[in-house]
Amino acid sequence: MRLLLIEDDEMIGSAVVTGLTQDGNVVEWLRDGAQGLHYASHELFDAVLLDLGLPGKDGLQVLRELRRQRNDTPIIVITARDDTASRVKGLDSGADDYVVKPFDLDELAARIRAVARRKAGRSTALMTHRGLEMNPVTHEVTLDGKRLELSAREFAVLETLMEHPGAITPRQRIEDRLYGWDTEIASNAVEVHIHHLRKKLGDGFIRTVRGMGYTLGDAG
Ligand code: CA
Repeated sequence: MRLLLIEDDEMIGSAVVTGLTQDGNVVEWLRDGAQGLHYASHELFDAVLLDLGLPGKDGLQVLRELRRQRNDTPIIVITARDDTASRVKGLDSGADDYVVKPFDLDELAARIRAVARRKAGRSTALMTHRGLEMNPVTHEVTLDGKRLELSAREFAVLETLMEHPGAITPRQRIEDRLYGWDTEIASNAVEVHIHHLRKKLGDGFIRTVRGMGYTLGDAG
């Protein structure tokens, strides 16, 4: 998943980035509330992790502003304010979930998967389409019951396409999902991963929609 972390605490921030990156996510990290609001409004993320006490703009304000804009990105509030009033205020302001510091990284990862799943309308973690099964927790992939070995990036590409199998996923969205802001990438990087995936999935599973992107939808 592509995640935005808005957190000014260096220790918590770098632990979250390291942990979630190891899990196969791309995590963009900002330390300022106003900046965070800007990027959350202008770029697409699978979830936003939002601290409440932030320089630039308070987390609750960021949250309210995003919901005012009708931005429906799942938002998990990260807070040291473990009193009931802050939690209620956060949830009432449009947060999907919250974690109280100090929190366990595995639990945070599970909560992120849960809010992303709810947004996609799935009730279980397993993603399925035309004989393909993907498990975002164990990273196991099977096609017609047979195990497929995918690299971390191939998994990420396929996961991005599986989120909306019938829709066209823009090439740029896949690129953003694979590489963070700071990464220089080859211009054909996405095509290379798609090429490898096609060899493993068979022809016709991933369709190119010229000039737009890729889809897992039926041809025709
Ligand atoms: Ca803070």
